[in-house]
Amino acid sequence: MRVIVVGAGVVGTMHAWHAVNRGHEVVQIERESEARGASLRNFGQIWVSGRAAGEELETALRARELWESIGELVPDLGFRPCGSLTPLRTGLETAVAEAAVAGPDAAARGYKVLTAGEARAKNPALRGAFEAALWCERDAAVEPRVAQLALKQALLASGAYTYLGGREVREVVAAASVRDDHGDIHTGDAVVLATGAWLGGLVRELAGPDLPVSRVRLQMMQTDPLGEPLTTSVADPDSFRYYPAYAGGALDALNSGQPQAPTAAAHRMQLLMVQRRDGGLFSGVGEAVV
Ligand SMILES: Cc1cc2nc3c(=O)[nH]c(=O)nc-3n(C[C@H](O)[C@H](O)[C@H](O)COP(=O)(O)OP(=O)(O)OC[C@H]3O[C@@H](n4cnc5c(N)ncnc54)[C@H](O)[C@@H]3O)c2cc1C
Repeated sequence: MRVIVVGAGVVGTMHAWHAVNRGHEVVQIERESEARGASLRNFGQIWVSGRAAGEELETALRARELWESIGELVPDLGFRPCGSLTPLRTGLETAVAEAAVAGPDAAARGYKVLTAGEARAKNPALRGAFEAALWCERDAAVEPRVAQLALKQALLASGAYTYLGGREVREVVAAASVRDDHGDIHTGDAVVLATGAWLGGLVRELAGPDLPVSRVRLQMMQTDPLGEPLTTSVADPDSFRYYPAYAGGALDALNSGQPQAPTAAAHRMQLLMVQRRDGGLFSGVGEAVV
């Protein structure tokens, strides 16, 4: 089969990867010369810890497995099985972590509550006072700025892949053909649209005005190299409030007994941090806009 993939972010590139690896021929079309969307600007966290039990967790674990196996073939992806730590400062926060560790899927996530000493042994860069930490062994990270490019180089070497940058797909003209802004028509046996968060134009025409999505706003900051390794990803305990894995009585007690600061609560904020390969810290505040 010949597969036309529109968009060269992580979603389009992974579709291209799997199609080529199943023996198909792929033409990937990207509006910019190289992918320019969220795939380059994200944390690079492969986040298993916060996912809801059931299908969402299974999907996250499968994604981690795929990143790890592809990372062995394409080391420049920068896959790192670094795990994550959430330092806990109060009994109410620790109770949420203990409830998570008592859950039926704790082993699948690699959850453990560590003492402060054990957490510092895993990640000596942790400073300040905390009484315990939630460890999630299955959390991992990749290097988002280079992962797409590394995958693309590996795809080009396959001989079954063509990359067309600087072409915006304007129209799906038949079940498996698209027209780009040069007027060229690309025909295959299947078309995969992976155009990211750009939800106007082509996507709106095809899906209609009521897209089943919600927006999440994230603000990121990258520092100069830290000068020491941050051996694990780090989350703040406010993350418990916004990831579905932690829902339950202990979280209700945290929310009522230790409410989030008003500004943070108004914007539904939580903080995550990961170290990039150059040593810089990549941290960000996520704000859910529902
Ligand atoms: C700040 C931030 C942090 C995040 N952190 C994480 C994280 O740690 N872990 C995680 O799993 N997820 C994270 N995410 C989410 C993740 O980045 C996105 O879900 C993912 O990158 C989406 O990939 P995509 O390929 O769908 O979209 P994009 O990366 O946006 O790629 C879409 C591509 O399609 C191209 N395109 C669009 N329209 C057309 C067209 N008509 N013709 C041709 N090309 C077109 C665009 O130019 C773009 O290059 C984060 C997101 C943000 C913004």
